[in-house]
Amino acid sequence: MILIKRATAIFKELRALALQKRTIGFVPTMGALHDGHLSLMAAAKHYNDITVCSIFVNPTQFNDPKDFEKYPITLEKDIEILEKAGMDYLFLPEVTDIYSDGIDQLPNYDLGYLETIFEGKYRPGHFQGVCQVMNRLLEIIPADDLFMGQKDFQQCMVVKKLLQIIASKTRLHTCETLREADGLAMSSRNMRLNELERKKAVHIAEVLGRIKKTVNAGPLLPISMAATDSLNNNGFKVDYVAIAAADNLEVLEEWDGKRPLVALVAAFLNNVRLIDNMLIP
Ligand code: AMP
Repeated sequence: MILIKRATAIFKELRALALQKRTIGFVPTMGALHDGHLSLMAAAKHYNDITVCSIFVNPTQFNDPKDFEKYPITLEKDIEILEKAGMDYLFLPEVTDIYSDGIDQLPNYDLGYLETIFEGKYRPGHFQGVCQVMNRLLEIIPADDLFMGQKDFQQCMVVKKLLQIIASKTRLHTCETLREADGLAMSSRNMRLNELERKKAVHIAEVLGRIKKTVNAGPLLPISMAATDSLNNNGFKVDYVAIAAADNLEVLEEWDGKRPLVALVAAFLNNVRLIDNMLIP
């Protein structure tokens, strides 16, 4: 694997490969890699001739500075994992390389409804930060295919919208969520849970599983309210539990029994904010 820190250097290298008609698969990450990230790498390897992973903890997408400061960094281990996964390139930029003109004058993207609900509502500015970094990364990495996780369901929708806004030819592939043996969605933030919190954390996946199992045509609100109560009673501080249309995240009060749904949860266990979702059916 070739490690490149400078944007200009990786752009030159990848552009030459693209001109030779080699397809480029790109997996952007913030590091602290786990098997969920590895599944995206495997998909990139399957689809593309050349695979690129980036590790960049993007300051502009953290609405909470403490969350940014505490973001786990495990670079040496990450490099080992990426080598083993057979990635061709690791892009490891500095903030100044991504945002060479500083972070005060970055573009704003019209994300409409998507920015007003769920993660958009509870993490103001987060999706603008996601778009700022993704736009910049895609200027540097001429990716044919981009691999992201369903774990961040709304983020995938936002990036899909960004690709339309910037008229990008890059194809977005949404890869399914990898889970621990007990069902907890893998996440870099899980490293910040103590033993007791880690045991409790699985309750999010259990609640989502229960929604998926019990949902029927008819009113949805009682189901999401019961799930919220269950999380609150188990020591979580819930930001939201919602059942929405899977295609546009419209919050539905009634279900016709046919339209594809997604159940979404965001909740704190002490200082650690966890998110997860499940598609229905
Ligand atoms: P992050 O490093 O948290 O920004 O995540 C980088 C990418 O990995 C994002 O596209 C995430 O959606 C994806 N990802 C995170 N957790 C998982 C998981 N458990 N399964 C699959 N993909 C994941």
